[in-house]
Amino acid sequence: MTELSDLPIRDSLKGRTPYGAPQLQVPIALNVNENSHRIPEDVAVDVVSRLAAAVININRYPDREFMTLRGKLASYLGFDLTPEQLWAANGSNEIIQQIFQAFGGPGRKALGFKPTYSMYSLIALGADTEYVEAERADRYELTPDIIRNAIAANQPNIVMLCSPNNPTGTPLSLSCIEAAYEATDGIVVVDEAYAEFSHGQEPSAISLLPNRPRLLISRTMSKAFAFAGARLGYLAADPAVVDAMRLVRLPYHLSAFTQAAAEAALDHSAELLATVADIQVQRDRLLIELEALGYDPYRSDANFVLFAGVDDPNTMFEALLARGI
Ligand SMILES: *Cc1c(COP(=O)(O)O)cnc(C)c1O
Repeated sequence: MTELSDLPIRDSLKGRTPYGAPQLQVPIALNVNENSHRIPEDVAVDVVSRLAAAVININRYPDREFMTLRGKLASYLGFDLTPEQLWAANGSNEIIQQIFQAFGGPGRKALGFKPTYSMYSLIALGADTEYVEAERADRYELTPDIIRNAIAANQPNIVMLCSPNNPTGTPLSLSCIEAAYEATDGIVVVDEAYAEFSHGQEPSAISLLPNRPRLLISRTMSKAFAFAGARLGYLAADPAVVDAMRLVRLPYHLSAFTQAAAEAALDHSAELLATVADIQVQRDRLLIELEALGYDPYRSDANFVLFAGVDDPNTMFEALLARGI
């Protein structure tokens, strides 16, 4: 049988394994931080009717610039954003990939703060971009000084900041983001995949966009919107950054179905985001109850909680799995 290693694959990909969170059929699936709620039935019906309308013209390529969708994303985010400041792709993973295609590449370097989202290093690998990781402070917190020092030591072209951070849940202060921006001439990406679940002490990094053309904020409909299967991630940034994304995107990368489904969901954003309050209550309950059980939960602004104090995590994982969790 032919093995991967028998193929004339790029040296940098030899011996690598793909992203592999388990996809198990269990009653209570929590391992990829999806929204555990289904979308409401009336929203589902509206999505289907928009897909039905879109199929009539499916012999034609979709709107390459998806201006209707970008307008709806701008309105959803607020902050007086214009459609020209918005961009979208098939999940924020593709957004990040396009950022690396445009601003990374051979001879270039990206910096992250570990532990953080595992896709950053995999996307860097695919884009032939060196990926380096710096340490966090106690309890996985970041400070402006830690960020400044890591940037000074590594001179990255791309700084990846995840707020709140996956897998620790740690929120990031605006002062950290401002410090990163001032310390580099490169691109500063703030991945706000879980922003809607925040306690709200830290405003979105979108508030820092004016006069910061190298600041990019990535968002997704996969978590708060309960829309992971539709694959819709998006970016808020200077219109010049959007021009850079246009250089590397594949033509017509967002299908007519994706655009129609995302537009329908955004028209129902209040209804879809109603689940966020419920998840926040459960998140905060877990923070209290885990501590009462003798574990050590970390502060979290996300829809998940990291906790320490488990003697044998693998045994815990298997025991929960046996109970359908
Ligand atoms: C889940 C997640 C995403 C979302 O990826 P999509 O491609 O939009 O589904 C992005 N960043 C982080 C940190 C995540 O945890």
